[in-house]
Amino acid sequence: MFSLKKTAKGVADAMYPPVCVHCHTRIPLQEVWLCGDCYEKLNYIPEQRCPKCGYPTEEAECSNCWENHYVFTQAQSVFLYEGSARSMVQELKYNGFTHIADWFANQMYKLIFEDKTMENIDFVTAVPLHRVRRRERGFNQSDLIALSLADKLNKPFTDKALIRKEYTVSQTILDGKSRRKNLRDAFKVGRTDLKDKSILLIDDVFTTGTTVNEAARTLKQAGVKDVYVITACHGL
Ligand SMILES: [Zn+2]
Ligand SMILES: [Zn+2]
Repeated sequence: MFSLKKTAKGVADAMYPPVCVHCHTRIPLQEVWLCGDCYEKLNYIPEQRCPKCGYPTEEAECSNCWENHYVFTQAQSVFLYEGSARSMVQELKYNGFTHIADWFANQMYKLIFEDKTMENIDFVTAVPLHRVRRRERGFNQSDLIALSLADKLNKPFTDKALIRKEYTVSQTILDGKSRRKNLRDAFKVGRTDLKDKSILLIDDVFTTGTTVNEAARTLKQAGVKDVYVITACHGL
């Protein structure tokens, strides 16, 4: 059973005095997370981006899509993975500031609230962590973002669509080919009612897209019609 109570919520979030999570200057309220300067410097993904994978590019043909064979329907991200946005992800993941998940969900909601395709979403889910890593961290940051976004979209959330089978090596230390090999068959589905569904899949960072793509492949093999991906940040 998914429970917010199992997270570090309320403990690490109650830091005093409140400081900007990027530059550590004092801020009036911890809930705003960033000082005015660092908020201004948030680097949103520009309008000119690949319509398929969200890669910021002005080229007609996206090199990212060409190299990776994406099976998801579409992927979008809110920020480039650098500066203040990167600090926000890291504070969420490694320092247990779990309320940052709501902040990212809000930003994602702003990105998609006029997007009609989202009306057809059957449920929202997140890229799962392996149970060992989830136990170590106490929560899955992507579950928290997905749960909050599902609430805003008024769609059901599930953490049972995908299960992580393998305890994979951290993706950040591997190159493209090794990433794909590392993740092959990393997931299995955890529900039997996935046929013809449209799923919104959430993750924190899209780097090469290998992780969300493998998750999407697993869902599609179970009969899912469309997998829409939204990540907080895009790492390229
Ligand atoms: Zn700051
Ligand atoms: Zn692309």
